[in-house]
Amino acid sequence: MFDKILIANRGEIALRVHRACKEMGISTVAVHSEADASAMHVRLADESVCIGPASAAKSYLNIPSIIAAAEITGAQAIHPGYGFLSENARFADIVEAHGMTFIGPKAEHIRVMGDKISAKQTVKDAGIPVVPGSDGAVVTEEEAMAAAAEIGFPVLIKAAAGGGGRGMKVALDQAGLYEAVSTARSEAKAAFGDDAVYMERYLQKPRHIEIQVIADSYGNVCHLGERDCSLQRRHQKVLEESPSPVIDAAARAKIGKVCVDAIKAIGYLGVGTIEFLYEDGEFFFIEMNTRLQVEHPVTEAVTDIDLVREQIRIAAGLPLSFTQDEIIFEGHAIECRINAENPRTFTPSPGLITDFHAPGGLGVRLDSAIYTGYTIPPYYDSLAGKLIVHGRDRTECIARLRRCLGEMVVGGIETTIPLFQDLLNEPDILAGDYNIHWLEKWIAAEHAKGAQ
Ligand code: ADP
Repeated sequence: MFDKILIANRGEIALRVHRACKEMGISTVAVHSEADASAMHVRLADESVCIGPASAAKSYLNIPSIIAAAEITGAQAIHPGYGFLSENARFADIVEAHGMTFIGPKAEHIRVMGDKISAKQTVKDAGIPVVPGSDGAVVTEEEAMAAAAEIGFPVLIKAAAGGGGRGMKVALDQAGLYEAVSTARSEAKAAFGDDAVYMERYLQKPRHIEIQVIADSYGNVCHLGERDCSLQRRHQKVLEESPSPVIDAAARAKIGKVCVDAIKAIGYLGVGTIEFLYEDGEFFFIEMNTRLQVEHPVTEAVTDIDLVREQIRIAAGLPLSFTQDEIIFEGHAIECRINAENPRTFTPSPGLITDFHAPGGLGVRLDSAIYTGYTIPPYYDSLAGKLIVHGRDRTECIARLRRCLGEMVVGGIETTIPLFQDLLNEPDILAGDYNIHWLEKWIAAEHAKGAQ
């Protein structure tokens, strides 16, 4: 097992990884930008190294600085968290070339899954159902027309290198098709430096359901059930739950097996998430994330498995500490992403936290790096914390979540806590009856009411 791990991230996820390390008796090295000198991940780590100025490009994405920090401190492995360098195959290669271990999948798999066109082809070949769409990139008007004719309108144009919900355009009919393709191409070029786009059928009322998988280096592969992440704004997840209100044990076992078989066929290593859209009882693959997800705690809550601990064990060459049969799904868990944002306009609200009170009690987990007197810097994403609540069933979980949201205090900045309080009054949410378009429609209706 490693003695020392460098955590190449910040905020709540750096803390999350630090916690797993400490419980395993591993010392931690935090890296931080100049703007994060007083951040909690830096304060709690055993050692810390400043790796550059505030801008992420010069610090958390600065590969030479991070490698130097690992070498100076004698870290044997690097955990990338999520975001930043976590899906950068070149970084994984460089870490390994310096004689350290990258805590994540093999670089080849990061590469294949990082390009959504090759990802779709790879999983399709491994037996996973995909969203009907163009077989590869769409460049010319003729190609776009031909693909649309086969798929049927409306179609969604997506960036092959896409991420974070960016670079997607809907074309409702033939007239708007080519313009949508051209705009998507130039947006993709600007955002990702790669203008390759592809087309998919635009599903009208799907849920976003993703399967957590895990594989060790001995060929053992398990699935840890699903997370329902259908509550989204601008294609970004806002609230996640497990189990999904629409998936029963038989459906879980069936799609879980399809995923496990595919992961075995691909020879994948570590944790991964296979994301699907789910409509009328059918699963359609959209992408695979080759890293720990923001919403991993809901899976941890229902399975009682520490995914970061397993990640570290796998990277150290140990086998999975459980078999598929030993995984028991218990109760219901919901995560709310508490962002430092205005809960109506969603404009970021960084700044000084004057007052902080964390909710607690049975089945309550708050993954957050904020504290009273901490100033949330304006340079990074607006996630201030994740509130994860577990109950024996969905009803108990919701009652507990409502209680926690009422208890939590984050003074001095605006947060999305009131948004979740409002959502928990909505009959559709209480009934679990919502799809990926629900939240956008609800927000539009709330704004219309506010304008009257
Ligand atoms: P990203 O990598 O940018 O997150 P994804 O492919 O994971 O992109 O899709 C993000 C979200 O966009 C999905 O959860 C879903 O809400 C929406 N989406 C993606 N593909 C489709 C589709 N074919 N039809 C309808 N919505 C889609």
